[in-house]
Amino acid sequence: MIYDIGIDLGTTYSCLSIMNATGTPIVVKNNQEHDTTPSVITYDNGEFCVGETAKDQAPFAEITVEAVKRNMSEADTWRINIGGVEYGPIELSARIVRKLVDDFIEKYPDAELKSATITCPAYFGPKEREATRQAGLIAGFEEVNIIEEPTAAAISYGLKSTGKKNILVYDLGGGTFDVTIMSIDNNRFKVLSTDGDCNLGGKDWDAALIQIIKDKICEQANITMEELEADKDVIADIKSKAEGQKISLSTLKEVKGGIRIGTSTVRYTVTREEFEAATAGELQATMMKIDSALESAKLTIDDIDDFVMVGGSSRMPQVKAGLIATYPSCESKILLHDPDLAIATGAAIYQNTRDVVVETGTDGQPVGEADAKLSKFAPKIGDIEIEKVLSHTMGVKVWDESQQKYLISNIIFKNRTLPIANKGEYYVHKDGQTALGVVIFQSEFEESDENLEVAEEECEEVGSFIVDIPSDSRAGEPVQVSIEANDKADIICTCTFRDITKSHTLSAKGLLNDDQIRNARRYLVG
Ligand code: AMP
Repeated sequence: MIYDIGIDLGTTYSCLSIMNATGTPIVVKNNQEHDTTPSVITYDNGEFCVGETAKDQAPFAEITVEAVKRNMSEADTWRINIGGVEYGPIELSARIVRKLVDDFIEKYPDAELKSATITCPAYFGPKEREATRQAGLIAGFEEVNIIEEPTAAAISYGLKSTGKKNILVYDLGGGTFDVTIMSIDNNRFKVLSTDGDCNLGGKDWDAALIQIIKDKICEQANITMEELEADKDVIADIKSKAEGQKISLSTLKEVKGGIRIGTSTVRYTVTREEFEAATAGELQATMMKIDSALESAKLTIDDIDDFVMVGGSSRMPQVKAGLIATYPSCESKILLHDPDLAIATGAAIYQNTRDVVVETGTDGQPVGEADAKLSKFAPKIGDIEIEKVLSHTMGVKVWDESQQKYLISNIIFKNRTLPIANKGEYYVHKDGQTALGVVIFQSEFEESDENLEVAEEECEEVGSFIVDIPSDSRAGEPVQVSIEANDKADIICTCTFRDITKSHTLSAKGLLNDDQIRNARRYLVG
């Protein structure tokens, strides 16, 4: 049986959803009967462990990998040696996806893995999207669709609401924060703007609580921070309790705890007020992202019909209170929408609307009806139209003669609706030049005249290619560079000189090639 599978591959927790026979998305519980699975991997005694057991074992395991999604932007460079083998974020993320899939297959043994939709943060660039896709392929899927987390959340929310409205999706998860403004008109979803911070999430609130607890323990036990930090078991104990205590603070006004140091137990109490004061800066950072998303969408707060809050951390009372304090008119519009599950269920709905994978025989024709495996478990819920926006501004590095330095000349700007293409006119630098180096940079600059050329230090290099040109080239001869982002957000850069044209697709840069993906899959799935 082929199921529509949607996967929320989260920084701290992941979740798998499928469409049931009536066309309703359901979350498949893991083998410990929980909706979400910690995105934690441990390695101990030659054995990998993923999920809840890994989270429990983390303080004692030889190696623990947490929040590997935060390393997706370094998928081409970040490596960790585990048992003598080098692993990158792609292979490690594949293990998390595989854990979800194994638990799913245990419950649905008739399931055949074909394709799935995996979610990623809206601000993931081409490299991170491709890295996420590769993780899904290694985990055993033949085809992986990528959809942005807020879009998935909006789909799951939008299908429950009718009519035309503007919504703001506030997604505060475990490791990342995303704000996305969308217009929904029945089954048409249009992203108007998106912003976020890939290093802001529940983990930062955990860290603030850990710091409060450490300070209190030092005071109570009359020891210095250095002495406390030196006791690794005590620190591990504080850390392992902190997330649960943070969650308790969402319902309780104060939490009590006790940490064993030597032969005595040091007790402490943390109030919600103390916790909220310590994390006010983080909360404020999310509000500032809302302002910039509104500005990009050219809307005011009063244009927003619903504030859809997703991501486990949006359950913290300070989030709703902060939104109301900053935007008093939105009080009645704030809705907590299935915070842990909306993204996975939205991904399953999206997968349901994707094309069916048609099996072909050796002659390339679809195989006979009896075993064509075209039957989808869930009825199609009708097409969903999604208009996305570009997540980053893209430009190329150019030499500025007047300033005698390199600048980044921006060609397409973030938050413009996909597909989008634009070109820039440049020139050969020197007589007799035999090659042109096209170096592509991404950045967060909004579209404006003053952001057409920006400083290199404020941009991130994401790819490059060389175009060989004839040695009779002359300084000042025109070179055209175009950058196109298609509706899947693939970035294609094309350089044209005379009749020479060379294109380069960004997403593949530095990641795994097909053989490496096949080998990694064989190693993981068999
Ligand atoms: P997600 O990535 O959406 O699964 O969110 C996971 C994050 O939400 C983790 O940092 C959790 O600690 C946090 N979280 C889940 N439930 C709550 C809650 N009731 N109060 C505060 N944080 C929560």
